[in-house]
Formats: sequence, C-alpha cells, structure tokens
Amino acid sequence: MLSIKTPLIQSLVLSQLNQCQVWLKMEALQASASFKQRSIGYACQKYFEQGAQRFVSSSGGNAGLAVAYTGRQLGVPVTVVVPETTAQRAQELIAQQGAEVIVQGASWVEANALAQSLLTPDDVFIHPFDDPLLWDGIIPMIDEVIAAGVVPDAVVLSVGGGSLLSGVVAGLNKHGLGHIPIYAVETHGTASLNASIIAGQHVELDRVSGIATTLAAKKVCQNAFDLSQQFDIHSQVVSDQAAVNACLKFADDHRILVEPACGATLSVLYDQKIQFKLTDQVLVIVCGGAGISLKTLQGLNG
Ligand SMILES: *Cc1c(COP(=O)(O)O)cnc(C)c1O
Repeated sequence: MLSIKTPLIQSLVLSQLNQCQVWLKMEALQASASFKQRSIGYACQKYFEQGAQRFVSSSGGNAGLAVAYTGRQLGVPVTVVVPETTAQRAQELIAQQGAEVIVQGASWVEANALAQSLLTPDDVFIHPFDDPLLWDGIIPMIDEVIAAGVVPDAVVLSVGGGSLLSGVVAGLNKHGLGHIPIYAVETHGTASLNASIIAGQHVELDRVSGIATTLAAKKVCQNAFDLSQQFDIHSQVVSDQAAVNACLKFADDHRILVEPACGATLSVLYDQKIQFKLTDQVLVIVCGGAGISLKTLQGLNG
C-alpha cells in the first residue's frame, strides 16, 4: 500500500480556542510522514503502470522521501539528486529507503540540472508539486473526510508550490464544496501565493528565506494561482516563530511532531487568526513533514 487512509480527529484544544469544531486530517501519519505520500505515491503508481523503469527526483525534502519510499514499495529504482545544503539527516532518510542519493552543486538549480541530464527515455522525473497526477492523488483525502461524516465549512492548509491546494480544491469540488473558504498559509519568507494574489498576477519571488524550507517555492504552480482567482481562497502569512511555537504546542497537545511548514497552518489556529462561527466544521490539513527532530525544534525556539 502506497498511502494510507489517515485518521480524522477532533482537536478539543483547538476547537475550544477557536470557538468552532476543528478537525485534524493527520497526514503526518503517512509512511513518509507527509501528504506527499498521497500525491507522489499516486503519480509514481501511474507512471509505473505506463512502464517507468526508474524515478528521478531533485528534492531533498518530503517529495524526495516520498519518491524513495514509493520506489521501494513498487520495486522501481530511485535516484534523488540533492544540493550540498541538504541536511545529512534528510539524505540518510532517503538512502535508507534504498534510493541512490547524489549530492551535486551549491543549490537546487545545479542539483536539478544534473537530475534532468540523467533522464533516459525509460525514466520519469517526479515533480514535487506541478503535475495534475499529483493533485489527483490528493482527492481521496477529501473523500475520506466526507466518508467520516464531516462536511467542512472551511479548510486551513499550507502552501508551498501549491499541489496540496490544487488537490484539496479538486476534492472539495468533487463533493460540491467548491464554495467554502480555504485559508492558504505561508510564512513571510515563502509567501509566493500571497505575492501573486496581491499583484493580481502569477509572480515569482526574487528570493525565499526562513525555516519553512518545505514551503520555499519562489513561484506557485499556474494551477494554484488560477484557483486563487476563481475560488474563495484567503491568504494568511505567519512568522517563522509562530510556526515553530505551533509545532511545539501541537507536540504537547496531540503528541505528533510536524515540520514548521505544517506548524504555519497550525499557528493560524493557535493564534486565533480567523473568526469562525460556533457551528463551523473547520478542516485542518496536518500536512506533516519528515525534516524535523525534537532537538531541532527546541533549538529554533528563540
Ligand atoms: C510539500 C509540503 C507542503 C507544501 O505543499 P505544496 O503542494 O508544495 O504547496 C507543506 N507541508 C509539507 C509537510 C510538505 O511536505
């Protein structure tokens, strides 16, 4: 099994704090620790059925780890090319899945260039966020919520390159919920969707910064920008510190460790950034993330 049905649990702490019903979709519990196991697992499965002989990725983060895990499950070799800046721990986690890890260049641009140059006609490059197959793989997340009897009045989720947003909107649409508000959360240093919404056009940031490296796409995918113009999507931008604080509180409250990329979303609830109604069922996507340890998190807590 590539991805699992995740628990949907009510957070009493966050429900009471926000005076509404807060439901946590626990994507942190996927085998590779994030929702990417759904998106990348699904895309890899489809490419495998089409004859892919190898998967190539240039992500040292949760995407690379999801490709490595999926390749091992399907018996397909995986090569992940990462820049020198990729944490040793992340490289180890990917290698542990049996993937070949190649370290190349000072930044992702060089690593990605090498990854592209390695591709033969039998290989498939797995993009971390910009592929409709990835978004299709996320739709079952919303199916599960509906099947559990929860009909959300709002969704809160994190945005990096926009695959999670794309998949969640597709899932909501499938269930006739395309009208509900979605709170799309980024950190100050990674707010590429926010910049595009403010500019009213699909823009690229000059640079990205901060600790939520998993959200650090200079530009969201075209689909995510288009959705922001067509659906009720509200941008929320939070500080790195707020994201870290939320990770720590969440670990205490729910005994699950998540990356600041996910803490960003949780901070919107912990810091009561949105005024909900008492009867609102608020779906929070606990997107997860493998790139964190308790020690790192405590070290970030300034
Ligand atoms: C990839 C990822 C995100 C951002 O998802 P996008 O689809 O790139 O917007 C957020 N949180 C975690 C844990 C991730 O792995």
